[in-house]
Amino acid sequence: MKSTDNAQLSRKSYNSIRVDFHSHTKCSDGHLTPAELIDRASNYQIEQFAITDHDTVAGVAIAEQHIRDNNLKIRLIPGIEISTLWQNFEIHVVGLNMDVQHPALTALIASQQQAREERAQLMADKLTKAGFENCYEDAKTLAQDGTITRAHFARVLHNRGVVSTLQKAFDKYIGKGQRAYVKPLWCSIAQAIEVINASGGYSVIAHPMKYGLSTKWLRRLIVDFSDAGGDAMEVVSPQMNPQQKLLSIELCEQYGLQASVGSDFHYPNRWSDLGKNLSVPDNLSVIWQHWNKEH
Ligand code: AMP
Ligand code: MN
Ligand code: MN
Ligand code: MN
Repeated sequence: MKSTDNAQLSRKSYNSIRVDFHSHTKCSDGHLTPAELIDRASNYQIEQFAITDHDTVAGVAIAEQHIRDNNLKIRLIPGIEISTLWQNFEIHVVGLNMDVQHPALTALIASQQQAREERAQLMADKLTKAGFENCYEDAKTLAQDGTITRAHFARVLHNRGVVSTLQKAFDKYIGKGQRAYVKPLWCSIAQAIEVINASGGYSVIAHPMKYGLSTKWLRRLIVDFSDAGGDAMEVVSPQMNPQQKLLSIELCEQYGLQASVGSDFHYPNRWSDLGKNLSVPDNLSVIWQHWNKEH
């Protein structure tokens, strides 16, 4: 057998592993604990799985312990979703397979968490001016000791009956350009990639179709990400329509990035679940080939 046949074969077998490399727990804005999420993924027969909470890796060790204690077969890939600011857009960069205890990662997490605290307080000030008091305190209560996010503020406004859906909280108050929006002081894409690389991981553009970018801007993002040493992009997310899937697969191939996939699961709902509809075309090389080669 020729070596190209071998490469083709192994690529195919990597692509067909059941995986999900984007999910959230209570350590940020997910609704399940790390143990509950692992049980769900395990019940769905997912072979390789990443918890990628917003600007924290707190769930990783808890999940690993749960896997050990229960002798589960699932392989957990350490992960994170880092918020970055690029050209005034909030772009999310997923890091996979890093050393979660690496000092560079710990330092970046600390500064991102501080930026989140400051933004949360400023956002609460703006909400107070809009007539809604103590949103910071209520959001903190929901977040407990996890990362505080706008999703928590959205839940506060929803629980109080201010908005009828979580989405409306973003559309009316805390989304970009709305009256309680605060521009966050996130790190740059280059900084996120540098730290992910320093801690031995791989970097991925999260859900590229969720930023509302035109194709022209999407190309710019991919070029900048790639120039900064980025590795991959999520080519399939459950929320993408067929045209978006085609476009992201085409761009991934065109710019020579590797492919990753993830559900971006936050809580059980009607539209998506762990590991569903995440298959990748065989012509793309997948990011998980790296850790499947390692022994
Ligand atoms: P943050 O990282 O604090 O800005 O919070 C963003 C999180 O809010 C996202 O990860 C989503 O889970 C959630 N979210 C829900 N709807 C929206 C929306 N329209 N825009 C941005 N974030 C949203
Ligand atoms: Mn989220
Ligand atoms: Mn995201
Ligand atoms: Mn996410």
